[in-house]
Amino acid sequence: MALCEKCVMTVEEGQRICKACETYQPLETDFRKKESELKEIIRKFGSTGKKYDCVVPLTGGKDSSYVLYYMTKVIGARVLVFTVDNELFREGARENIKNAVETLGCDHIIGKFDERKLLMLYKASFRSQGSVCLCPLFLSLTLFPVAIKEQVPLIVSGFSSGQRGKDYAFRMPDINAAKQEFAKVCQLSRKALAIFLGDYAPDENEDILDEITKYQREALANLDKTDFFPVMFPLSEYAGWNSFEELYDILGEHLNWQRPSEAFSRTSCRVEQIKGYTDHTKNFDSMRKEISHYIRKGMVPREKGISELSLLCLNGNKPSDLNEFLKLIDITEAEFDALIHKPLSKELLDIIYNIENWLLGRSGL
Ligand SMILES: [Zn+2]
Repeated sequence: MALCEKCVMTVEEGQRICKACETYQPLETDFRKKESELKEIIRKFGSTGKKYDCVVPLTGGKDSSYVLYYMTKVIGARVLVFTVDNELFREGARENIKNAVETLGCDHIIGKFDERKLLMLYKASFRSQGSVCLCPLFLSLTLFPVAIKEQVPLIVSGFSSGQRGKDYAFRMPDINAAKQEFAKVCQLSRKALAIFLGDYAPDENEDILDEITKYQREALANLDKTDFFPVMFPLSEYAGWNSFEELYDILGEHLNWQRPSEAFSRTSCRVEQIKGYTDHTKNFDSMRKEISHYIRKGMVPREKGISELSLLCLNGNKPSDLNEFLKLIDITEAEFDALIHKPLSKELLDIIYNIENWLLGRSGL
């Protein structure tokens, strides 16, 4: 496989530049205008008379930390911070979460699962699918339920730009339709989790499913009594930074934030190398796309993008922290080498794709 000469996407032998680079047009965004639009949205749709204007999901990584900084310090919104503890945070990311919440004095809710059951889910997932990446599911399982419970109408996420369409326009959802869609998301989430669980511990499957879907089920039970449905949108439609140095300065100054890892693109999860290696083995290119996006926007030089591939094992390097992972999942290296090549179930991929699209507001269900 050859690399595109401008970014880090793979191209066919003999091809110099990838499709995305060939057709790339920088977007001219007037962020000052966008800032007042966002202020207006908060003023109009933020919780009138209620405690919080928006929920910000925080992982301690750069994207979600920037959202928290921007919404509190620039927009002046009343923010409820939410973290779902997947038990896989890097120590540095945990520190960042604690420092940010303390420095800003925000209320903070942590969604937690029974640790033993969650670990069973990871073990089963790697055995059945050769993957432990459940984060898109965790968001639908926890974030919307928290916003519903705490009666917060807006969720501002850190999905990076380039993950959505170009012509974003904010709108509040039709409440009844959104509630019906959420019921579908709940069904799909449970189905996806059941596929991940496979037949590792069939006697415990229902217990584990009940535990992991507990926030969703609670939200669903109370949905009739709520007169709104939260809408989620990414801050990247309204604000952005110019370089990683600038970003690190802002976060350090306002949130007492420090880089949790050497990598620049994904920073908060301690199985990030395993994820990169999994992506490489299974030919998934979402992380390559994200790194390439930063390169095209001039936020990071291409050489750094290339080192990032090796830092995150996206080039097929064996993860340096593999032993830690083997211990966590309770398998041998030989078993790992065999399982990592397992393809993800087609049904599961479809469900995750649909849930991600729903999360990003790209399409209904
Ligand atoms: Zn390219």
